[in-house]
Amino acid sequence: MLDCARLSCAARWFATSTLVIAGLAGCASSPQATSDSAMMPIRASERVFYVQGAGGMATAANAGFNSNAAFVVTDDGVVVFDALGTPALGAQLKRAIGTVTQQPIRLVIISHYHADHFYGLQSLNEPGVEIWAHEKARATLESEPTRSRLEQRRRDLAPHVDPQTRLVAATRWIEFDASGEIAFTRGGVRFRLIDVAGAHSDEDLMLFVDGDRALLAGDLYFSGRLPYVGNADSKAWLAAMDRIGPLSPAVVVPGHGAASDNPAPDIALTREYLRYLRETMGAAVRDLKSFDEAYAQTDWSRYAKLPAFEAANRINAYGTFLRMEQETLAR
Ligand SMILES: [Zn+2]
Repeated sequence: MLDCARLSCAARWFATSTLVIAGLAGCASSPQATSDSAMMPIRASERVFYVQGAGGMATAANAGFNSNAAFVVTDDGVVVFDALGTPALGAQLKRAIGTVTQQPIRLVIISHYHADHFYGLQSLNEPGVEIWAHEKARATLESEPTRSRLEQRRRDLAPHVDPQTRLVAATRWIEFDASGEIAFTRGGVRFRLIDVAGAHSDEDLMLFVDGDRALLAGDLYFSGRLPYVGNADSKAWLAAMDRIGPLSPAVVVPGHGAASDNPAPDIALTREYLRYLRETMGAAVRDLKSFDEAYAQTDWSRYAKLPAFEAANRINAYGTFLRMEQETLAR
């Protein structure tokens, strides 16, 4: 039984507004950023809720709370998608879920093994809780960059990430067949787990909640802003975007930022932007131009006014430039 299924629109609005206000208060870099009131669940659809981290990077000031976690209340337990970026945030997430339902957490699925999405696992890893991740996340977990990222987090996010912070493995590493999709049912709710590995990380997963037509998209979906591309494989990312369309989600909960109940324009923007990066940087690579020259000569005007342009565009272009060099040399 969904305990707050009868939440009125007004109550939902209030919950959302309170979160916005709490979020704004959190921007003042006060320790309040980690108060439970700053992690109030937002309802995305009938069964799907999420908590929304602050914009920007994980810092000690925002207590590492810069990403989202979603959860689905089934008739038999809660399915959580992502675990946030510190053990304390994972514990807070558990309390936040407790404000919505008394049902136990039974399954946690990790979208990808980047620090801001899975360090909270330490607090969710209890008997009776399954943890699923893509089988390719196993190599990521054991990799040198993952180890050095933990050292960096211990330095930069102290005391929220400290020597007691441990990196938790999945209890089940999910393998996909050629369909790239696994359907499963929990507590009367049908889910589709979608393999989009290689797009943003080596091990990306998306989770689609059938009845609600809600897509939990991890870091492949950005709402009303430019995506952070970095050195992601934009070709694989475009292929992943192609998999979102046929699902025709009514709502998408991204890994960062607010959920969107009008995903089509966001999908179109990300797709068009990735294509433009590939086209312009690809042409520059073929013409043997330097990156600086290519960047200066590219017309960015259609993206320059979008949020995150200043912070992300140059690094996105550079990552794509290097990616196009690799793709050209591999031919
Ligand atoms: Zn990520």
